[in-house]
Amino acid sequence: MKLHLKSMWQKPFTALMMFALMSVPAFAQMKPAKAVPSKISTLSKAETALTNKISLDSIKTFTKALAADEMEGRGTMQPGGDKAAKWIATQFKSFGLKPLGDKGSYLQSINFKETTLTPETSFQVGEEKFKMGKDYGFIPLPFPKEDKKISAEMMFIGYGMEFFSKDSDMSKVRGKVVVMIDGPPASIEKEKWEKAEANSRIFEILVINGAKGIVLVGHGRKGDKTEDYIDYFGRRQISLADEKDAFAPIPIPPMMMISKATATKLFAKSEVKFADATKQAETDAFKSFNLNQSANIVVKYATKKGTSNNVVGYIEGSDPKLKSEAVIFTAHYDAYGIENGKIYNGAADNALGTSEMMAVAEAFSKIEPKPRRSMIFLAVTGEEYGLYGSKYWAKNPTWNIEKIAANLNLDGVGTEVFGPVKNIVGYGAEHSTLGNMLAEVTKSYGIKVMPDPRPEENFFTRSDHYSFVERGIPALKLTGVNKETAKEFNETVEAWEKLHYHQPSDDVMRNWHWEGAKTVADIMGILGLRIANQEKMPAWLATSIYGKLKRGNTEPLPESD
Ligand SMILES: [Zn+2]
Repeated sequence: MKLHLKSMWQKPFTALMMFALMSVPAFAQMKPAKAVPSKISTLSKAETALTNKISLDSIKTFTKALAADEMEGRGTMQPGGDKAAKWIATQFKSFGLKPLGDKGSYLQSINFKETTLTPETSFQVGEEKFKMGKDYGFIPLPFPKEDKKISAEMMFIGYGMEFFSKDSDMSKVRGKVVVMIDGPPASIEKEKWEKAEANSRIFEILVINGAKGIVLVGHGRKGDKTEDYIDYFGRRQISLADEKDAFAPIPIPPMMMISKATATKLFAKSEVKFADATKQAETDAFKSFNLNQSANIVVKYATKKGTSNNVVGYIEGSDPKLKSEAVIFTAHYDAYGIENGKIYNGAADNALGTSEMMAVAEAFSKIEPKPRRSMIFLAVTGEEYGLYGSKYWAKNPTWNIEKIAANLNLDGVGTEVFGPVKNIVGYGAEHSTLGNMLAEVTKSYGIKVMPDPRPEENFFTRSDHYSFVERGIPALKLTGVNKETAKEFNETVEAWEKLHYHQPSDDVMRNWHWEGAKTVADIMGILGLRIANQEKMPAWLATSIYGKLKRGNTEPLPESD
């Protein structure tokens, strides 16, 4: 899932930033539970026949193949990603799917651009040379990537609150590398601070008043993800090859995030030590002060262009009229590839989701009669960097976009293999008739539909189904939940996040409960079959903010509150 980066760094600069973020518990203490939800068999004969063809062994085999080191973490614009795409295409062919990519192939090629920071890039204070991706990371901004060489005195401005008062002397930051704490201060609510776009207004003031560099350190309270971001900022940045850089009206100084350990070293020569300075910064009396040391910053970029592929195939519908319409099943197969010599196998995120979708495709290829509408299976690339693969297909569809009945997406962190599935979250269920359909299907498995357990995280907008919502197509992202309550589930997810999320350690675990993956694949398959066979295509609910969207929509979407 795409990382959710606070956009306040870019707001003044009105640009997109990539990433996505979600998470789950360590396995050590888990005992493989054998219990499988009992089917209460209100399924039709055709549905039972379909689920009997959805193979748990296939899900296992596909996941292990995709998450193996040979696939080198399936990186976008990396050989591992290309290898995975070809492998998925070979499976689609073996299932008997018809190709739906470029020129009669299963592949839809997309032009990408990779931006990296070269080894010359550095951040040094006195004798101290800091390590990129560990001690610090440059925040990727949407502007032209200009190399920079800066040596300037550092000034600590706390949270920058003093700059909100109209008689503050803004000129004092001119020519300085400004060190500040990423707001809000403890005394101000996060929502209020974000609503006021406080951080971005401070950045604007600093940039306009000639700061030479901006160094952000986390506030250290709950929700501070600085250290996670630093790890990401040390990685390569991927964007579409023709993506336009945002216009920079004035020179934009480099912005970086630093760890608290690094911050302590920046204050080594200052009268006030970092720990005391952060306390002072919480008070109204706080005034900014120099750190009596210079920062030496070198930023050097390297960019290269290349391609990566979506993989797409379909099964033609059996109804002479309805076969021109299609249900589209999606999952992103890309992971973080190889970074700094480490392989990011992305087993839970999202080799598992891709494999569940492939097992559904395999099953549909084996049943007769075929569903009335056609079934498209799309494994997308570039999701981790900004939903690029699904956005590209939605903008360059290889099927009439107005004839897409619905999208069913799988992307998660493996919660369905942590134990028997007790609940399903259908992200998007509240927006269309798909919600009721999901509730009906889950009944057959004696499991319930759980509302979005963390609405504040905006998961509905952070994975590939959202690219279809943007084109006016009702969509669901399905997540299997091994817990009874949202609270338990969130704790489970957050615990895993700390250890494995977008980390090299996201590997297939010996005690994964694969039956849970089968349950999710079954539910995806049955839902797809019901959508494909019903008279009408699913519709948005009038109560939904997307209620007025039409298939083929090209207008920007209404903002959710
Ligand atoms: Zn993902």
